[in-house]
Amino acid sequence: MAIDRHDPKQAWGAFLESIGPEISGHVLETWFKPIRCLELAGDTAVLEVRDRFSRDWLNDHYIDFLRERLSAIVGTTLAIEWVLNPERAIPDESIEALPDEPSSVSESIHPSHDRGRQLNSRYVFDTFVAGPSNQFALAACKAVAENPAVSYNPLFVFGGVGLGKTHLLCAIGHYILKEKPRSRIIYTSSEQFMNEVVEAVRFSKLPEFHARYRRNCDVILMDDIQLIAGKDRTQHEFFHIFNTLYDSQRQIVVTSDKLPHEIPDIEERLRNRFQWGLIADIQPPEIETRIAILRQKAENDGFELSDDVTFFLARNIRSNIRELEGALIRLTAHASLTKTPITVEYAQQVLDDILTARGALVSVEAVQKLVAGYFQVKTADLKSKRRHKVLMRPRQVAMYLCRKHVGSSYPELGRRFGDKDHTTIMSACRKVENLLKEDASLRKQVMDLERQLDISVT
Ligand code: ADP
Ligand code: MG
Repeated sequence: MAIDRHDPKQAWGAFLESIGPEISGHVLETWFKPIRCLELAGDTAVLEVRDRFSRDWLNDHYIDFLRERLSAIVGTTLAIEWVLNPERAIPDESIEALPDEPSSVSESIHPSHDRGRQLNSRYVFDTFVAGPSNQFALAACKAVAENPAVSYNPLFVFGGVGLGKTHLLCAIGHYILKEKPRSRIIYTSSEQFMNEVVEAVRFSKLPEFHARYRRNCDVILMDDIQLIAGKDRTQHEFFHIFNTLYDSQRQIVVTSDKLPHEIPDIEERLRNRFQWGLIADIQPPEIETRIAILRQKAENDGFELSDDVTFFLARNIRSNIRELEGALIRLTAHASLTKTPITVEYAQQVLDDILTARGALVSVEAVQKLVAGYFQVKTADLKSKRRHKVLMRPRQVAMYLCRKHVGSSYPELGRRFGDKDHTTIMSACRKVENLLKEDASLRKQVMDLERQLDISVT
C-alpha cells in the first residue's frame, strides 16, 4: 500500500527519508528531525519548531528546498506555515551560543562567493542531461563558462518553468569557480536583488551595495529576471550594474521565463540590452530526454527503476522536469517507506492525482483507437475473439502498448479487450516483446505508434 500522503506524520516521515541522502547528517539531525508536521490542510503545511531561531534559520537556508520536496511528496504545491512550541524551546543562552551559520551546512551546499544566494551543488554541467530541447542553451552556457565575457555577453537564457534554467545558471558558476577559484561571482535572483536594493536604500548602504555589484563582481548570474517587471528602482540599479560590468568586459547571465519583449513594465533601455548578446532558449524535453533524466536520477540516487516504470513516468509526466523529479521523489519515498517494489501499478497508484489532474494518462480507449487506425482495422476487431490472422498482430500490439503505457493490470486489460482471460494478455505482451528483438518491421510499427501516442495526448 502507498502511504497516506495527507497524514502529516507519514508525509513528514517520507520527506525525511527522501532528503536523507542529500543533506549532511548533521543538518538532518539538528534542523530537520526536530520539526513536527502538525497539519496538512489544503495547500498549507503547518510545521512546528521549537523556537524562533530554528524557524529563521530554516527559512534562510532551506525554505525552497523544504517546500519543493514536501510538495512533491504530498502532491500539491504547499505553503509552509511555522508555529513555535515554547515547551520544546531550548533556553536562550544556548541559542546565543549557536553559530549564525553552522559550518556543516557548507558540506551540502557550495560555499557562495559572498552574501549572494548559494549555488546548489547538484546543479553542475555533469548532471545536466543534454537533448535536442536544451542543447543550444547548454552549449551557450558552456561557452560562457569556459570564456566568460568573451563569447556571449550578456547571455539571456529563456525557457518555461522547471526546464533547467536555474540548473544551467548554477552550472556556469560552479564551472568558473573550479577553473578560476578567485573569480568573484554573484549568483542571485531578481527577487533577492530587489530586497537588497530596498535594504540598501533604507539603511543608507548604497555605496556598499554599488561596490559589491559594480566593483567587486566579475560575473553576475541573475535568476528569474522577469520578476524585475514593474520594480523601477531595482531596474534602475540593475541597469547601472549592467553597464559597468558590460563596459569592463565582465560576464552577465540572466534567466527568464519570458522573452525580453514579453516582460511587461520594464524600461526600454534595459530590454534593449538583454538583446545585445545571445538569447538561448530551452524547450520542453522530448520523451527520450525525459527517459535519460529519469535514468540518471535513479542511478545517482542509487535506486532501481525498471524500464517499464521509467517509460511509464516519462510518457505520462511531460510538462517539465521539476514535475518529473517530483514524481520520482514521491514514488521512491513511498516505496521505501512501505517497502514495496516499484511497479507500474504502484506508480500509477501513488501518482494517481498528478496523472489524472493533468489528464495526461493514456487511456485504453485511446491506444485501441490509435492502433486500430494504424492497422486499418476496427476497434471492435481488437476486442473480438475472431482468430483471423490480420487481426492478430494489431490486437497483440494494442495489448502490449496498453500494458506498457496505460499500466493497467492484466486482468483489467483482459476485461477491456472483450472479456478475455488475463493469461491471453500476458502471452500477447510476451509475444510482442520477443518479436521486437528480431522483427525490424514490428519495431518500426511500435515506434511509430509510440511517437503518435506521445504527441496525441500533449
Ligand atoms: P527552472 O529554473 O527553469 O524553473 P530548474 O533549473 O530549477 O528549472 O530545474 C528543475 C529541476 O529539473 C532541477 O532539479 C534540475 O536539476 C532538473 N533538470 C532540469 N533540466 C535538467 C536536465 N537537462 N538534466 C537533468 N536535470 C535537469
Ligand atoms: Mg529557476
